[in-house]
Amino acid sequence: MSDEADGLEARLRAYEGRPAAVAGVGRDPVNLPMIRHWCEAMGDANPAYTGADAIAPPTMLQAWIMRGLVTALEGSGGSSGQGGVGEGVGGRTGGRAAEYEELLGLLDAAGCTAVVATDCEQEYLRPLRPGDEVAFDTVIESVSGRKTTALGAGHFVTTRTDVRVAGELVGTHRFRILKYAPARRKPKERRPRPVINRDNAGFWEGVREHRLLIQRCTACDTLRFPWLPGCNACGAQEWDTVEASGEGAVFSYVVMHHPPFPAFSPPYAVGLIELAEGVRIVSDVVGVPYDKVRIGMPVRLEFRRYDEELVLPVFEGTVA
Ligand code: ZN
Repeated sequence: MSDEADGLEARLRAYEGRPAAVAGVGRDPVNLPMIRHWCEAMGDANPAYTGADAIAPPTMLQAWIMRGLVTALEGSGGSSGQGGVGEGVGGRTGGRAAEYEELLGLLDAAGCTAVVATDCEQEYLRPLRPGDEVAFDTVIESVSGRKTTALGAGHFVTTRTDVRVAGELVGTHRFRILKYAPARRKPKERRPRPVINRDNAGFWEGVREHRLLIQRCTACDTLRFPWLPGCNACGAQEWDTVEASGEGAVFSYVVMHHPPFPAFSPPYAVGLIELAEGVRIVSDVVGVPYDKVRIGMPVRLEFRRYDEELVLPVFEGTVA
């Protein structure tokens, strides 16, 4: 580990035990309407959550300490924790202690600009009942060393929120986030390579020279495409080539939506192009939106480079 990384880790660890939110107060007392909505959303028909002696579902603990949407948007700052950040989710500002803001800022400055919630643990010490007024404090419990994950390298930050009613600890909510430097994206997937063999090598040589070559039987003059060893019409094996003019029209087409193959971005149109010379070739129809491709649309050949070694003949359409 470099001295620089060492120094960062020491600075991060100095935040362990320091506050993330202080003297937070639940936005609403524990109440039956919120309990009912929760149970309906969760499909939880447990009779303990209804009636005169109803308790709150224990897993609602976080619901009582979350900031409302409006206060979250206002982001009024300060450490008094009105509505609070007990849930420890990154991206909220108002109510967070300055120390927690500093810690996140330090991680941002170290390149760990992305955040993802990783897990949550709760402990319940006694049930919450309607009318209970919830207060909480959140502490930065731990900051991990640098960890490498599939998302990228970064540090896990664990906060622990102690939830109290009238001074009595009723539950704890431990929340872990990963602040990380997003991993570099994988190099772009490349298109599949053409299979080049001795029967079609001449065609691909032509493509490299930006020429679309059609085979012609030297016995009967029949043109053929794709390239084959013998003539479909007379069976002769002798041939030469003619270069396509590049003019053609869409004879038929499909629009690919699914499955998405690497290096292709659906939806896209694949055309069966009838060349002016009369033979047909399957290729991309480019230059027009996929949903504007039509049978009979005039197209013109062009050669498109996809990567350092792959050039393909494609056909540019024109919308009438
Ligand atoms: Zn022939």
